[in-house]
Amino acid sequence: MKTYHDIVSDGGSNVVGQVKDHESRLKQRLSRVEHVVAIMSGKGGVGKSSVTVNLASALARLGLRTGILDADINGASAVQMTGVDRQPLRSDEGIHPAVTVDGVEVMSIDLFLETGTPVEWNAMADHSAFTWRGMVEVAAVREMLADTAWSPLDILLVDLPPGTDKLPNLLDLVPRLSAAVVVTVPSRASTYVVRKSILLAQRHLKGTPMGLVENMSEFVCDDCGHVHRLFPESASHDLRTEFEITDLGRIPFDPSLAELTDDGESFLGHRPDHPAAQSIMDIAGSLCYLVGIHQPVTETTAETAEDTP
Ligand code: ADP
Repeated sequence: MKTYHDIVSDGGSNVVGQVKDHESRLKQRLSRVEHVVAIMSGKGGVGKSSVTVNLASALARLGLRTGILDADINGASAVQMTGVDRQPLRSDEGIHPAVTVDGVEVMSIDLFLETGTPVEWNAMADHSAFTWRGMVEVAAVREMLADTAWSPLDILLVDLPPGTDKLPNLLDLVPRLSAAVVVTVPSRASTYVVRKSILLAQRHLKGTPMGLVENMSEFVCDDCGHVHRLFPESASHDLRTEFEITDLGRIPFDPSLAELTDDGESFLGHRPDHPAAQSIMDIAGSLCYLVGIHQPVTETTAETAEDTP
């Protein structure tokens, strides 16, 4: 297969120039971001996106300038889960990310779409639609990375779609990841799939640290404080023994996390005393340590929302 370097004549489109220009814009954008961290799972529905937005909110509360890039083009949920305004501002600098009440910058394909509109790509031909969609999705993430005028950020969380091939795609665009965080639930079915993503990720990451978050690990009763297990056993402890992966922590199942996050409200702002909120704050601290941010941990400057959803 030819690459653009091999193209002798481009019919006047200057494709090589365009690609080079794109690469240099991407580099320049990423130079404003200190740490890029991928959030991945392999399995859908384990809470990857809610972990991403709540973790971002926690990092902002620790005093870090934080961003979220929603790389899940077809299952984008960062806009819904953060409650930011759609229709981002455009200027000569590029497209400006939306900003949450916690001060987190957000970029997602959903910012450009009306609420609930699915993304649909027109394939060149029906039989090539599958390949075409994959390519266009990667291109859309590249465009968002190259065109977003992030403020200088300490940390950018990239919410990857489920699927084992998504991390290598991101590494093509962002070769210097600071860490990859894998989200799982403690079920054997999730662990089985997540194990495969970790195996593949380790091959591509070449020494980049990995962290594990076990979501919906248990349920803590509001009334009596009793801890109920949601799955027969914590299958993810096998992952921690099999792989060199840092245990970042466990987040209990909390109905108010689902209710608030799904409605675009700040769970940490509304329910800072809940065990799940405290776990998320601890995980944010452990993530800082994992990527080598030893400093911040100042009191939050983010607004604390009223204690009502
Ligand atoms: P994924 O991104 O892995 O597909 P989501 O983040 O969309 O999963 O989560 C699926 C659903 O589970 C959402 O409604 C979310 O609010 C809910 N959820 C995630 N984590 C928790 C939790 N710890 N407690 C309660 N609900 C949760």
